Amino acid sequence: MAADKLMPVEMKKIDDETLGITWSDGHESRYVMRILRASCPCAECVDEITGKRIISLDDVPKHIQAVEARPVGRYAYQIVWSDRHDTGIFTYKYLRALCGCVECSAAREENKDQ
Ligand SMILES: [Zn+2]
Ligand SMILES: [Zn+2]
Repeated sequence: MAADKLMPVEMKKIDDETLGITWSDGHESRYVMRILRASCPCAECVDEITGKRIISLDDVPKHIQAVEARPVGRYAYQIVWSDRHDTGIFTYKYLRALCGCVECSAAREENKDQ
């Protein structure tokens, strides 16, 4: 299945810190919500001109929660956070790339070495 055809089929809260997404290819992703919030791609979090990240993990409240995920077209979620931040559009592609599961983390580590 082509990576750009991947769709989330289910999104659920696993615990107070973790969000889970099940994908159309059966893959299950786990996201630490705080890391996901710190990875927000919006213009308030990333400098549009330089591409440099403005916020870091330290700027994100420890007990941040994803309150709502609104579908945007058929390609993304707009995630509303408990700190009222809601301008981040997380495309499926971006979310999949951020997958924190052991398998994906290991694959990323391998690519780093090449
Ligand atoms: Zn943002
Ligand atoms: Zn994964």
